[in-house]
Amino acid sequence: MDFFFCLPILFGCSTKVKPEGDQTPRLCPRCNNASVCRAKSRMWFEICFVPLIPMSNKHVWICTICQWEVPLQQNWEPVLPGQGFNRGGQAPWGGPLPPPQSYQPGYQPGYVNQHQ
Ligand SMILES: [Zn+2]
Repeated sequence: MDFFFCLPILFGCSTKVKPEGDQTPRLCPRCNNASVCRAKSRMWFEICFVPLIPMSNKHVWICTICQWEVPLQQNWEPVLPGQGFNRGGQAPWGGPLPPPQSYQPGYQPGYVNQHQ
């Protein structure tokens, strides 16, 4: 009787995100937590869950809580806590805080990017 050992070969791609650079936490436009950090996102081609071949490499801002992610870009970065819309709770009139000057409506590159 032949003994045929069939090893299933699993392959695919996975993305690994590694923190890099300035790790000062920034405010996340989606979940409002100060949990956005700079990171390098690299896609690997892997076989049997072992990353073998680096496929693509990009620099991103990523939220560690809600996984919001946006490519790093020159003229924009997430707001630092204290500068942005999270100014210590509610507005004096009890309602939600108005959008700050630094956050122009319509310029949220993350949302544009995610529809590509
Ligand atoms: Zn978030």
